[in-house]
Amino acid sequence: MEWKQKKPHAVCIPLPAQGHINPMLKLAKLLRSNGFHITFVHTEFNYERLIKTRDEASMKAVEDFQFATVSDGLPQSNPRGILDLPALGVSMPIHCKDSFRKLIEKLNSSADVPPVTCVVSDGVMSFTLEVAREFNIPEILFFTLSACGMWGYLHFDQLLQRGYFPFKDESWLSNGYLDTIIDWIPAMKGIRLKDLPTFIRTTNRDDILFNYNLESVNNALNTGSIILNTFDDLEQEVLDVMKSKFHNIYTIGPLSLLSEQIISCEAKLESIEASLWKEDEKCLEWLDNRDARSVVYVNYGSLIIMTLKQLREFAWGLANSKYSFLWVIRPNLVNGGTEIISQDFLDEIKDRGLILDWCPQERVLGHPSIGGFLTHCGWNSILESISHGVPMICWPFFADQQMNCLYMCTKWGIGMEIDSDVKREEVEGLVRELMGGKMGKEMREKAMELKKKAERATKQGGSSYINFDLLLQHLKGES
Ligand code: UDP
Repeated sequence: MEWKQKKPHAVCIPLPAQGHINPMLKLAKLLRSNGFHITFVHTEFNYERLIKTRDEASMKAVEDFQFATVSDGLPQSNPRGILDLPALGVSMPIHCKDSFRKLIEKLNSSADVPPVTCVVSDGVMSFTLEVAREFNIPEILFFTLSACGMWGYLHFDQLLQRGYFPFKDESWLSNGYLDTIIDWIPAMKGIRLKDLPTFIRTTNRDDILFNYNLESVNNALNTGSIILNTFDDLEQEVLDVMKSKFHNIYTIGPLSLLSEQIISCEAKLESIEASLWKEDEKCLEWLDNRDARSVVYVNYGSLIIMTLKQLREFAWGLANSKYSFLWVIRPNLVNGGTEIISQDFLDEIKDRGLILDWCPQERVLGHPSIGGFLTHCGWNSILESISHGVPMICWPFFADQQMNCLYMCTKWGIGMEIDSDVKREEVEGLVRELMGGKMGKEMREKAMELKKKAERATKQGGSSYINFDLLLQHLKGES
């Protein structure tokens, strides 16, 4: 069909983790509602998981939006949890790349879809660039993290050159080495080693995840253009210096708000979603019966794991705060835990707390009963919280979460940090401050200001709205 041939066709491939799939899906829908045909690529493992957690109808293609799969190369029995990231880091650049090549070949020889005109790949799936080059298809990398986190990764090479990485010996764990101040990263005066992405914390020069990330950002630097899910007003200082490294940085976030502006009435696309766990919606009803801003929402995202001891400290800190809470304990959150929640605890909290496996987070954060968010500082969670003006308590775990936490607590004034060695008294105290204290009130005001700025950025004429238009032109080869 003539019109089909003219339609641009974007292949969108996220890293196979929830925090990467969600923003890529939002971007894919935005492209689809702007005239693109979309092939959205899951790994075979995740696709099967998705089918199991929902009715098959929601995975069926809608017009001009289809799913495809690639192999990640790991055996089916591998759980692909956080501890398996190094295995994925080794396997994907080989197996996933081969599989991706076959997919592009198949798409380009199919009469049912237009030829592929561009690839939008996760920044940490940058091995896809090689395939795109082979087929002479333009590709752009989408880094689903903050600009400050990205700026940290962009200094991995210098950390290596200047001898900070690899760490000299295991004593870095206890001798305060992580407090070392780095004074040479532009726009990040006073930053400490412990604020930088955690993949530097190893004595092994051949560390898989350090090198994987180093390669990803080096590949990005070679492409010249990247997409970030952030907005200029939030991270202006870092974005300004980052511009020296890239011709184009398409800051188009928060994607949830941009999507509301552009595709809210397109009912068909709402059926396309990609939650790897089944969302338990009963929490929304439970929230309906609570007072405005009376509930603390607690969620640690899709990847991190903790010890049973840490979980108990959170549990009793929440219980002793006497505030109501909605607590998501992902089935694989606790490392080696069996009896997670004791009867004592359940007796203590009665109906003051609701515990779930997984929830529709964006709807929860948008509920008027939510007064604060205890988070692991994953970038999506932070943006979703900002988009609803909700202040946070931060318990960063790994990757760029420490950097995000630093910015939330010291620059944006919307977060308070819990020590990594979490203690129930600290949780109790911070929850009380967040929900009822002077600092909590100030943080809420700042979060509301940022929400307004985020709304401005994503409305017509705002920076993210304009950048999205520029990105469309770029992807259509018009610029
Ligand atoms: N999420 C969700 N329900 C949950 C927990 C998380 O829908 O119970 C979503 C959340 O809205 C976010 C993503 O999962 O979009 C988690 O991404 P984030 O960057 O915050 O953390 P990660 O999982 O990558 O550590």
